[in-house]
Amino acid sequence: LPTQVTFTRESKLSQSRKTEKQQSNLWRFVPMATNTQEQQSQAGRHQEVGHKSLLQSDALYQYILETSVYPREPEPMKELRELTAKHPWNLMTTSADEGQFLNMLLKLINAKNTMEIGVYTGYSLLATALALPDDGKILAMDINRENYELGLPVIQKAGVAHKIDFKEGPAMPALDQLVEDEKNHGSFDFVFVDADKDNYINYHKRLIELVKVGGLIGYDNTLWNGSVVAPPDAPLRKYVRYYRDFVLELNKALAADPRIEICMLPVGDGITLCRRVK
Ligand code: SAM
Ligand code: CA
Repeated sequence: LPTQVTFTRESKLSQSRKTEKQQSNLWRFVPMATNTQEQQSQAGRHQEVGHKSLLQSDALYQYILETSVYPREPEPMKELRELTAKHPWNLMTTSADEGQFLNMLLKLINAKNTMEIGVYTGYSLLATALALPDDGKILAMDINRENYELGLPVIQKAGVAHKIDFKEGPAMPALDQLVEDEKNHGSFDFVFVDADKDNYINYHKRLIELVKVGGLIGYDNTLWNGSVVAPPDAPLRKYVRYYRDFVLELNKALAADPRIEICMLPVGDGITLCRRVK
């Protein structure tokens, strides 16, 4: 897995004063502090998502977290976030502000039957489970059960594990199976997709059948570390460069799909909400 990196750019104001060539040099990766004194002295500051922040500054993002996210974060989500921070792949976790957003969104749409593709230790899953009514359901899929089981005790303690049906394995065959049975068509209120980016378009073909008209699909990481606008010579990490083309293709395809209305939000690493209209 990649080491932590920050993808930075200068402020819009200073960019506007530079030539295009100069601007292309503004994109660069900056390694994040890992286990250094600096990092320890920043205890309580966000660590896992600095590279994902699409805001003008890290300080502004920190302000959001400290002012409106952390003070209102449910205790089990805090516990799961802190547990996940110790895991070597913590870069994959959903950020706390995005978790808060998902939780409110699910309540706003009165979601009951939902699906999540890409669980990891379950931060977005817990944000979902806490938002659903007691008889709500989440079909949660991941190829890795071990990481899900790391977070599971926290989910159980929160009293929401009964809403989760965890399915271990690749999502595609499971989706194909769901599509085969017509009674699943139009049965999901919400689907959160946060897994293998090279399959999002294939997932979309199936999910559009499974989500109800008026329901939502959320595709995560659609701004892909900001790399969607990086110049061709930008020093992107290998995995960022590899998946970038798939994310670009997905974004184009979603924008052209008449079956959905879309809204791309710069929350977390970018989330595109798709509301099925036909
Ligand atoms: N939503 C999670 C959270 O809040 O922490 C983060 C998910 S993480 C970015 C991506 C996950 O997708 C990993 O746990 C990985 O095992 C899973 N994954 C990768 N390929 C998959 C596939 N083909 N089907 C299902 N899950 C997959
Ligand atoms: Ca994500």
